[in-house]
Amino acid sequence: MIAPEKLDVAIVGAGPVGLFLGHLLVQRGLSIRLFERRQDRDVVSTSGRSASSARQQSVLSRAIGIHPVSLELMQPLDLAAPLIAAGRVIRRGHALRHMNDAMGTLDFHTLPGPFPFVLSIPQNETERILEERLIARAGLAVLERGSEVMGLDAHDDDGVVLRLKRACGEHEVHASWVVGCDGKQSTIRQLANLAFEGTPYADHFVMGDFSDNTPFGAEAAIFLHPAGLIESFPLPHEKRRWVVRTTEEVTEAVGDVLVQIVNERVGHDLSQTERFMESPFGVQHLLAEKMARGRVLLAGDAAHIVSPIGGQGMNLGFKDAQRLALAFDEIAAGTPPERAFARYDRQSRKVAARATRRSAFYMRLGRPQRSPFWRDQALRLLLATPLRSLIARVFTMRGLEPTPS
Ligand SMILES: Cc1cc2nc3c(=O)[nH]c(=O)nc-3n(C[C@H](O)[C@H](O)[C@H](O)COP(=O)(O)OP(=O)(O)OC[C@H]3O[C@@H](n4cnc5c(N)ncnc54)[C@H](O)[C@@H]3O)c2cc1C
Repeated sequence: MIAPEKLDVAIVGAGPVGLFLGHLLVQRGLSIRLFERRQDRDVVSTSGRSASSARQQSVLSRAIGIHPVSLELMQPLDLAAPLIAAGRVIRRGHALRHMNDAMGTLDFHTLPGPFPFVLSIPQNETERILEERLIARAGLAVLERGSEVMGLDAHDDDGVVLRLKRACGEHEVHASWVVGCDGKQSTIRQLANLAFEGTPYADHFVMGDFSDNTPFGAEAAIFLHPAGLIESFPLPHEKRRWVVRTTEEVTEAVGDVLVQIVNERVGHDLSQTERFMESPFGVQHLLAEKMARGRVLLAGDAAHIVSPIGGQGMNLGFKDAQRLALAFDEIAAGTPPERAFARYDRQSRKVAARATRRSAFYMRLGRPQRSPFWRDQALRLLLATPLRSLIARVFTMRGLEPTPS
């Protein structure tokens, strides 16, 4: 009998994190494959959603912000240039109270490193570029679409067996390690019995992509209105992403909520612009009990969820991928796997907890304020001093990594 093929690493989920991890591991010469239940890249997982909501999700892109720290990780793999070419470079962000009351500006060109800007690119575009380049690097067989992982047997001294469901039936895959990059509802995390704990915040938001009729061009605008936060980011193709904090939870029928709030709070009229998508979202923070248990590893949203305010979630996942690749390097150099992965677990969870505290702070800043005078004065003052370059660094996710031990 022919022994079944055994991969070094099976990656479950071809979202941005799984795809980036794929690049890093292929570069190291490991035999890998990604298993993705979505047949079509541009349709977000339909599990538990109605068909119409799935269609809405197909054009809905969650992450738009790629921070310089991630571009630095992408550069050695020749991924930074195509992402930048498809995205929009944001070199400045303005803090305002409303359209005619600017409180100050963050200049990203003061940032250290080769990418002194935040890149705005819809997540489905990021996924397209990462996928096309991965296939060019490793061949078509590196990604198996339409394969949903249903079961997992993990044996500490031997490896893992994954059970997958495909349109043509079920099959098994053997690998030395499995990495669950399968998002918030992670099947791998559940099959490994890893708790995922945290709490929802009481904040609610609606986001929407519109054609751009603002004077901001390629710059970002954050409105700290006393009634609640409004964010406005440039997107490629002369579009803009608006995010508004709502006083109450909005259902799937968003209607004109976003347009009305932007008009009421900051005096900007979106009613004549083209709308591309609108969607409400709630926010929460969750952290897995462990990101490594035996031969099962987790990365990205499967391991941690932070509030999207601050745009850190996907970028955190890219950092996990990099740390995980370094753990494989350590193992290749002779470090026992349990030691390399224990370090991966410790550092990644620490970084995620720090990012969670940052996004909680950003949300506090953007909550409705009865008397915002002191908050606004403090911000105006800070943004008028050299401290604003420190704020720009914090906002772009510098200083999250633990100091080397
Ligand atoms: C409104 C909003 C705005 C955001 N904005 C930003 C931002 O600007 N910047 C930022 O950094 N982050 C942002 N985020 C967070 C970002 O979207 C996530 O952190 C990111 O998608 C995580 O990527 P991932 O690859 O870990 O998981 P996912 O993108 O969820 O991908 C998981 C993949 O696994 C697949 N999968 C699931 N189960 C299985 C299975 N059993 N078998 C096979 N495949 C499976 C899914 O189909 C999916 O393709 C935002 C999030 C939201 C909600």
